[in-house]
Amino acid sequence: MARVVQKFGGTSVADPQKIVAAARKAAARHAAGDEVVVVVSAMGKQTDVLVDLARQITDSPSAREMDMLLSTGEQVSVSLFAMALQQQGHRAVSLTGGQIGIRTDSSHTRARIRSISTDHVNRLLADGAIVIAAGFQGFDPDGNITTLGRGGSDTTAVALAAVLEADCCEIYTDVDGIYTTDPRILPAASRLDSISHDEMLELASLGAGVMHSRSIEFAKKFGVPVVVRSSFVEGPGTAIVPADRAVVRPVSGVALAKSEARLTLEGVPDQPGSSHALFSRLATAGIAVDMIIQNAGHGGTANISFTVPEADLAAALAITGDVAAQLGAGSISHDRNLAKVSVVGLGMATAEGVAGQMFAAISAAGINVTMITTSEIKISVLISRDDTARAVAAAHQAFGLETVDGHRAAAAPLAMTKSDPLEVVRRLEGMEDLAIEGCQLDASQALVTFLDLPDTPGVAADVFAEIGQAGLFVDMIVQSFPRADRAEISFTVPAADRDRAVAVAEAIAAARGGRVTDVPQVAKLSITGVGIRSHAGVADQLFAPLAAAGINIDLVSTSEVRVNVIVAAAAGERALALLRQAFGLA
Ligand code: ADP
Ligand code: ASP
Ligand code: MG
Repeated sequence: MARVVQKFGGTSVADPQKIVAAARKAAARHAAGDEVVVVVSAMGKQTDVLVDLARQITDSPSAREMDMLLSTGEQVSVSLFAMALQQQGHRAVSLTGGQIGIRTDSSHTRARIRSISTDHVNRLLADGAIVIAAGFQGFDPDGNITTLGRGGSDTTAVALAAVLEADCCEIYTDVDGIYTTDPRILPAASRLDSISHDEMLELASLGAGVMHSRSIEFAKKFGVPVVVRSSFVEGPGTAIVPADRAVVRPVSGVALAKSEARLTLEGVPDQPGSSHALFSRLATAGIAVDMIIQNAGHGGTANISFTVPEADLAAALAITGDVAAQLGAGSISHDRNLAKVSVVGLGMATAEGVAGQMFAAISAAGINVTMITTSEIKISVLISRDDTARAVAAAHQAFGLETVDGHRAAAAPLAMTKSDPLEVVRRLEGMEDLAIEGCQLDASQALVTFLDLPDTPGVAADVFAEIGQAGLFVDMIVQSFPRADRAEISFTVPAADRDRAVAVAEAIAAARGGRVTDVPQVAKLSITGVGIRSHAGVADQLFAPLAAAGINIDLVSTSEVRVNVIVAAAAGERALALLRQAFGLA
């Protein structure tokens, strides 16, 4: 007898007929002797309908009342689902988040799960019932209803699978698996048989809406086997697997975040603590920033650019304005008509030239790139929103993603590693806390920076094509928002390659204009874990101790599974010790 959690998304329960069909899937599993917990989303677009109802009353509904309202969508669908099962002759009991005991923090509309009680569900399962759990909702310490953020039913499902030690969590949706990119945007996308947790975390956090990124945090932290498949057609779907079971490809997928905005704070005093002042305030407001880029200082001042979801722009502008006044910084500029296209793949950490290929593809499509950040397994470019579909297609084609995996047989089902009872008790507490796994120091790299490169379309593509031709392995790449038509691009290479890298860079600068500066040895500190970007406070926790110790940060790159900072080589060991302490690592 196995224990399974099956989650049905909105389209899968959009009308009574679909609810009946979904209930048959759950019933068939139950009839085969398995214990079944079903997690259901609101019917169809019901959550959007509710959001719209609120808008018709007020532009600024209180977050508490929004949660009260939005949670009703799932209450409708769970009860209908239970009725459908009862009609089919099964025992079924529907439960709200509160009735299950899904405790969350109090951040309404984006609450995080703290713990889940298992007693009630276990009792019902032992009695032979199918349990129908409302997705997306919980309750806070004061008993208020909370919701987990749009798309949060995935997180309910995987979290329940984790605490119930289910053998598998099946996500039923309107596509038959995870694709190399959103198949609705690019029909040439192909289905992946499997994808690693880290890749899925990056893709989801960079815009692939097929899974709520926080659900993958649970899958990774608690080893929950997850399969994504279609509600409507039979098929193997896509297994989300640990890295050691994953197929290593340079690029597994392309993600798209359509509604990005950029902010640049100019003339920031280039001293330790400036970034901290800004990012701690943004974190406190719960704004997840991405593509943080701080230019090397000019005449004692630096520029800090970063992106936020467009919906957070107004709040981010207000906070940045405040901080600018405090720091005595100069002006703030922003741009809202932007999109972020990212490629993600485990293999790019060791394959050469992936970034160059990406920039070349975007440039060949005639698309200008305004900012770039990379981390070990992802490359993100910021472009004009009007260019998004073409950029996705260009990147997808450049990495041959039309033919990845194809339709081979499904991966063998995974077994969840059963844990000891103490471990089970532990996993009920602080379920969705940030999980920092480690902090590493790499003192083997050199930093090369182009200053004042003419900002012509394709500049990054040309630069990294030449660097690639020279056989140089580039690790971090950052292109900052251009100022006065001048671009600034920084990258790191192994220190042993520093001389060659500088020679290549100087030849490029001589041909195009611009200057090259370098630091022969820098210290790169990486913090790895799960949920790093979506837990808005990590940048803050990272910047604070370094600022307090007077250590200046030269370069930053953030991602969902790690954040990297470059500091002076001499400060490396001290920074490592400070960060280990700040994150409670031995
Ligand atoms: P549900 O209501 O079942 O939770 P969602 O609408 O949240 O479904 O997620 C499924 C949708 O995600 C698909 O219809 C597809 O358009 C979109 N999507 C985005 N990126 C991907 C991807 N890489 N693979 C598959 N689907 C994707
Ligand atoms: N009904 C919620 C939403 O539409 C949660 C979900 O479907 O996952 O966002
Ligand atoms: Mg969804």
